[in-house]
Amino acid sequence: MFDIVIVGAGLAGSVLAERLAKSGKKVLVIERRKHIAGNCYDEVDSSGILIHKYGPHLFHTDDANIWAYLSQFTEWTLYHHRVKAVIDGKPVPLPFNLNTLHEVFPSSLADKLEAALLRSFEYGKRVPILELKNSADADLQFLADYVYEKVFLHYTEKQWGLPPDKISEAVTARVPILIGRDDGYFSDHFQAVPKFGYAKLVANMLDHKNIKLLLNTDSKEVMELSGEYLRLFRKRFKGRLIYTGQLDELFDKKFGQLPYRSLDMKFETVEAEKFQAAPVINYPNAYDFTRITEFKQIHPTHSPRTTILKEYPQAYVAGMNEPYYPLFTKEARSAYEKYSAELATCKNITAVGRLAEYRYYDMDDVIKRALEVFAALT
Ligand code: FAD
Ligand code: UDP
Repeated sequence: MFDIVIVGAGLAGSVLAERLAKSGKKVLVIERRKHIAGNCYDEVDSSGILIHKYGPHLFHTDDANIWAYLSQFTEWTLYHHRVKAVIDGKPVPLPFNLNTLHEVFPSSLADKLEAALLRSFEYGKRVPILELKNSADADLQFLADYVYEKVFLHYTEKQWGLPPDKISEAVTARVPILIGRDDGYFSDHFQAVPKFGYAKLVANMLDHKNIKLLLNTDSKEVMELSGEYLRLFRKRFKGRLIYTGQLDELFDKKFGQLPYRSLDMKFETVEAEKFQAAPVINYPNAYDFTRITEFKQIHPTHSPRTTILKEYPQAYVAGMNEPYYPLFTKEARSAYEKYSAELATCKNITAVGRLAEYRYYDMDDVIKRALEVFAALT
């Protein structure tokens, strides 16, 4: 009946469902949550504000093909993301840039540090904090220690339960120091949010006669993997399984549970038209939450109230909370590699997406991967 079964209706699963259905395949999508769109899911709350249920999702990419692909399913609200970080009680632009430098230091010191930066780096360069910390120049070492302490150390300890040097350098390199004056959080050419939300975008993708969607269904309820054989609704399934969930769950945790990091998302309604000075404000050095998002500033809405979200990092406990982030330690990666090697023995299963590939994928990365997988399968 079905040529392909896809586990997970997030972006990875939905892009593949859409592509395969249009190429004539009959596709079954199984999703354990009561909704589609995975962690990008959004909905209008009781104040009439479009909120992102699993944390703030800002679309950004340099890839014109991905932008064109997604634009088939949505109109856009062009949105250039801005973040501030509170340093010594004052919200200042993040990524730390030359404007930030002049906000946190007296002007003579800021001028001296700016000159030191421009002696060592080209204007416009983005320098990871761990690279700046290796600098031989005494002024740059002073600056690196300051930014490390005020922006990265305590935020990272909160977010990951680990200091920056215990996780992959790529994690803190996502928010580099900018030798420039652009206060934008991302540098990508295309930056936007879907005009009617991500859930609507994904619903448009899945709206095809060849796609059957089963919500509220864990794949374990209808599918069984024994050796390399798959059973679907108790019958042998000879088609392909595209799996976008956690790989340890697919293999019944036979090599142990993979570590993930979770968040407790706490939404609050505030009786004020506006709550804060930027759409997202990070709190590296105070409180148990990492950041506050004000959704009205992402999706402008007329409302006398405003909805904010505080993200409290916590350990992932299976069945209790959500596996938002793979852990980027060497130990976690080698635990994942065991599952990856097991997967390689199953010729009819393809693992795609942030959970299944255990990668720090942004939305555009996931779409790119899904399109590559589609090209390889056809
Ligand atoms: P998911 O969205 O996790 O989808 C996987 C789906 O599979 C889920 O719906 C899950 O319920 C389902 N599933 C799993 N196992 C089973 C099973 N056994 N049976 C049935 N269903 C199953 N990216 C950006 O580009 N910009 C941002 O601003 C941004 N902000 C983010 C903020 C946070 C807090 C987080 C956590 C992520 C953010 N991302 C952002 C990343 C983005 O969420 C991901 O890149 C993208 O959602 C990954 O899509 P996916 O399909 O791989 O995974
Ligand atoms: N980071 C930090 N301080 C900040 C912002 C980010 O230390 O104010 C570090 C932290 O380790 C974080 C990583 O940079 O996990 C990546 O930040 P990003 O904003 O990309 O995280 P995400 O939005 O994916 O949670």
